[in-house]
Amino acid sequence: QRRCPSDFADIEGDFLFVTVKTTKQYHRLRLNLIASTWISDALLLKGRNDKPVVKVAILSDAVDDFVNTMIGGRMVKSRCPSSHNKTDLCCKQAAEFDLYYGEPKLAKWYCHFDDDNYVNMYQLLAELERHDASKPLYLGKSSRGMVKLKDVISGNEKGRVAFQFGTGGAGFCLTRVAMKQIKPKVSRTTGGLGLEGLCRKLPGLSDDVAVGYVTGFYKIGLTQVPTMHSHLEKLSALSQDDIRKAISLSYTRYKSYENTIQLSAFHNVTPSDPTRFLSLHAFLKPKECSRRKRAK
Ligand code: UDP
Ligand code: MN
Repeated sequence: QRRCPSDFADIEGDFLFVTVKTTKQYHRLRLNLIASTWISDALLLKGRNDKPVVKVAILSDAVDDFVNTMIGGRMVKSRCPSSHNKTDLCCKQAAEFDLYYGEPKLAKWYCHFDDDNYVNMYQLLAELERHDASKPLYLGKSSRGMVKLKDVISGNEKGRVAFQFGTGGAGFCLTRVAMKQIKPKVSRTTGGLGLEGLCRKLPGLSDDVAVGYVTGFYKIGLTQVPTMHSHLEKLSALSQDDIRKAISLSYTRYKSYENTIQLSAFHNVTPSDPTRFLSLHAFLKPKECSRRKRAK
């Protein structure tokens, strides 16, 4: 099992490409938190020939210079309207896909996360390594079971597309093989409107449901990953062990309503940590890495 940044030397570079969507009003409260915790740590993982294992790109309505520099210039201003309405979020997801397709070398895996996700990159990479990336795969956490909608892609009036989708707020991943298959229907670089066009044809479709729809259309089923967690779950019910094994975690805070993970008092390192992400980051931080390096 890999535990330290130096444990990835056998992995080819560009193993994983991650995109996160955010919006200008969340830069201060959400983006800074993830940029200074899991994202900056993920960028330290070095594979074969010292190539980065993970690249992270961020899509927003404005570029934050500090974060942009930190992630190697991969913070991009979208041409999508900055609203929470479903079509606009589909536009953003399409733009996220296009950040992947625009890379000179396509990573073996693509993952999306929201800006209120904490990603444990060691757990995520371990999960991805367990799967055969030469297959078209779609990994995520379903929150709704099977969905059946009319087929607006093939033009077959009576056709139906049946699928499960990975909840966007828990994150989802696709292999390069799957990404190439779905490209004609999600990317805007191929001439069409991409995922946004699909969301216009099926009003009310959320961006994550739309991703499931397209993968379903191409008969790529969802592989369930129970250790991905969105704030649709009761996060305080997760045990310390669940938290340690989680690939992704999240939070919501709305007035007096709070849905956050609960770390034992010992690990609650900062009193002013409403999301618990700072405490979580400290809780997960491997203690032995620097010591082991010195011993060599
Ligand atoms: N988001 C966005 N534009 C908006 C509102 C939200 O791009 O106007 C992004 C936000 O940054 C997050 C995702 O959409 O990555 C989900 O937003 P949020 O967590 O606010 O809502 P939820 O759908 O989880 O209730
Ligand atoms: Mn959210």
